[in-house]
Amino acid sequence: MSDIKEVLISEEEIQNKVKELGKKITEDYRDKNLFLLGILKGAVPFMADIMRKIDLDLEYDFMDVSSYQGTRSLGEVRILKDISTSIVGKDILIVEDIIDTGITLNYLTKVLKSRGANSIEIVTMLSKPSRRKVDLPVKYNGFEIEDNFVIGYGMDYDEKYRALPYIGILDESVYTK
Ligand code: 5GP
Repeated sequence: MSDIKEVLISEEEIQNKVKELGKKITEDYRDKNLFLLGILKGAVPFMADIMRKIDLDLEYDFMDVSSYQGTRSLGEVRILKDISTSIVGKDILIVEDIIDTGITLNYLTKVLKSRGANSIEIVTMLSKPSRRKVDLPVKYNGFEIEDNFVIGYGMDYDEKYRALPYIGILDESVYTK
């Protein structure tokens, strides 16, 4: 696609990472009550892929928790769509596309703890450690990247590019269109 300046992580690299993470999660959650909690909309492709690489009985649902608009995180968090089932006693694994400041998941983790989850961990495809503003323990991390704005594999720029099977960096010309 001509809007893409650079493919940062190819489809094959993503799929290999998904398999690797799925295997680890399968081993770690064998005797647990796994509940995958995907964050809309960015985590949809990752959620669909990883749930089929985890060889366990599991539940999944989605929440829409937003702290983000335009090209920078705002630092304000709102729950736009909640889950409908109880999480008491369940082992929650939050599935996220990318962790930037960490503010969204820091907030969400606190909310889920107060609802009586047995454990709460995070799996993210991408992380930008240099942007972190809060301390957030991330148990499963796909790739650590520099502070670049990325799109694809669920991630958007103005709601576009989410369906790309790879992760890329946009050409500057897109921002001036
Ligand atoms: P945090 O609360 O960690 O700052 O924000 C995480 C959310 O910000 C992600 O779920 C994602 O929606 C958005 N985000 C952060 N960095 C990027 C990026 O490089 N590209 C895109 N498309 N979204 C990002």
